Amino acid sequence: MVRRCEVCKRQFDPSYQNTSFHRFPQNAELMKIWEKNIGKENVSNEARICSDHFHISDIMFSPG
Ligand SMILES: [Zn+2]
Repeated sequence: MVRRCEVCKRQFDPSYQNTSFHRFPQNAELMKIWEKNIGKENVSNEARICSDHFHISDIMFSPG
């Protein structure tokens, strides 16, 4: 499966030194906030978002 950013649809590429791809939060409350921020609803569990859309310091959830 190709990893693609849910927001900008950019495809994951390890050569992007300054861009990381992240899973959406597993926490339902946090997920609602993220969905609101990106203007989407019912985002897939498999969706990824690239770091262009938020500041790294905003990541308040634990990976996994
Ligand atoms: Zn993106």
